[in-house]
Amino acid sequence: MKRIFLSPPHMGDSELEFVKEAFASNYIAPLGPHVDAFEQEFARKVGAEYAVALSSGTAALHLALRYAGVEQGDKVICSTLTFIASANAILYLNAEPIFVDSEPASWNMDPELLSAELTRLAERDDLPKAVVLVHLYGQSADISPIKEICDRYGVALVEDAAEALGAEYQGKTPGTFGQAGIYSFNGNKIITTSGGGMLVSADGRLADKVRFWATQARDAAPHYEHSEMGYNYRMSNILAAIGRGQLRVLEDRVTRKREIFEFYRNELAAVPGISFMPEASYGRSTRWLTCITIEPKLFGATREQVRLALEEQNIEARPVWKPMHMQPLFERCRVVGGAVAETLFNKGLCLPSGTSCTDEDLARIVRIVKQSCS
Ligand SMILES: *Cc1c(COP(=O)(O)O)cnc(C)c1O
Repeated sequence: MKRIFLSPPHMGDSELEFVKEAFASNYIAPLGPHVDAFEQEFARKVGAEYAVALSSGTAALHLALRYAGVEQGDKVICSTLTFIASANAILYLNAEPIFVDSEPASWNMDPELLSAELTRLAERDDLPKAVVLVHLYGQSADISPIKEICDRYGVALVEDAAEALGAEYQGKTPGTFGQAGIYSFNGNKIITTSGGGMLVSADGRLADKVRFWATQARDAAPHYEHSEMGYNYRMSNILAAIGRGQLRVLEDRVTRKREIFEFYRNELAAVPGISFMPEASYGRSTRWLTCITIEPKLFGATREQVRLALEEQNIEARPVWKPMHMQPLFERCRVVGGAVAETLFNKGLCLPSGTSCTDEDLARIVRIVKQSCS
């Protein structure tokens, strides 16, 4: 039986044409016309002033935090329920993460816990340099109160929208509210360049500085002159060509992701013990991955038993992210709350949500899930 992956790449009709063009022009380099065009088209799509194409979403986070002035020993607040990349970027700068729990309504950072933590830190004159706000599984966090709290304390807001391209928050795109926002084009994201990332901002100086750092911090001179430490973080022209094609099918992908979610919901919502990740009232989720929680006492099996039943049929499902405060790497870090994220990890399962999945594939997955409790 052919393997069903969690969220495999799904190319549209124009990616290969753009790549051929890149070959024809011989811009097989980490710069070129497709990089410039991809940045412009992306900025327009999400409604950002500036966009910088980079080698990964993690690289984008690293540079966004460096621009926020994060240095050795600084504190940075981060959502605990996320993929490790959100927190690794904090470690790259030798800063100290503080993790904040999710709210049940969106699974994203709880604004009240953030507010309490910033108040506490302000009283000790120990405010963090930045907040990394993650938008999980295609759904925006509740940005407005979080942005207001950050502004009140003068703390930079960096949005990790790696999983939320195509989502809406109050009619706008998450990732465009903070000082900087980042997106990822890793292989399993809603659109992909095989690997890659984008940083967006309304601040032109920020975008220029990030571009400079990402190109080995090369000063303006005919020879190679350097007064700052930089990185090799730019996106290849070939990959930007793929990205331009993918951007054109983004809306189709969101539509299909939401259809997949509806299919699962129609089939599984009435099953005792199965619940779906809620969609918060303030926006539209892309449903990048359909996430369920399983109450073992009611359903008759744990999420791990369901995952293994699917795996036996060569179907890939994955537990919800294991919270950062439960990771051995962050054993000594402070966490504010944590029980919501822990429960989501213990009970949560991401079902296969590839946009090229057929309804027959989905029906088979549903059958296996339903049978897994007997
Ligand atoms: C994928 C992802 C990233 C990292 O993106 P890369 O392009 O793989 O470096 C960051 N944060 C979250 C929440 C992600 O899911």
